[in-house]
Amino acid sequence: MYLHAPLPELCKAGVVSNHGADFKLTVDDVPVPKPGPGQLLIKLNVTGLCYSDIHYMLEDLPLPRMGDHGVRSPGHEGAGIVVAVGSDVVGWKVGDRAGVAPTWDTCTYQEYIVSPARYTSRIPDGVDDFSAGPIMCSGSTMSRAASGPFQFNRDTIR
Ligand SMILES: [Zn+2]
Repeated sequence: MYLHAPLPELCKAGVVSNHGADFKLTVDDVPVPKPGPGQLLIKLNVTGLCYSDIHYMLEDLPLPRMGDHGVRSPGHEGAGIVVAVGSDVVGWKVGDRAGVAPTWDTCTYQEYIVSPARYTSRIPDGVDDFSAGPIMCSGSTMSRAASGPFQFNRDTIR
């Protein structure tokens, strides 16, 4: 693992308690995670609020619970800067700008997060974090739908 500067031991996170209709989200101090093999440690500047996060807190859909994956904080999109690189990561370095897309065990209501390098997106120059962060879920979904093998036919979109 390569570190650019000393990292704090703790960081702020939005932590859910009392899941369900009366869920509660509080700001707590949590340990700064350490990147494992193939992972990046990212200091987030921006996170998004997707309605899926509300569903995870409400537990109103027949989906696995956040806690089933060891997740205490919701959130699955954001933008920031790489502050540490785990072993076996190729092509990323400390200081790179990074966008986080949805994965089961990434919680972006936290200052420092680990993200699998292979699922982390580069943020190009000229795109600020406040524009990039919130579109990592919704924007990437629409981009993939419009450019992939399931390309929409303009005539069928109303
Ligand atoms: Zn989403």
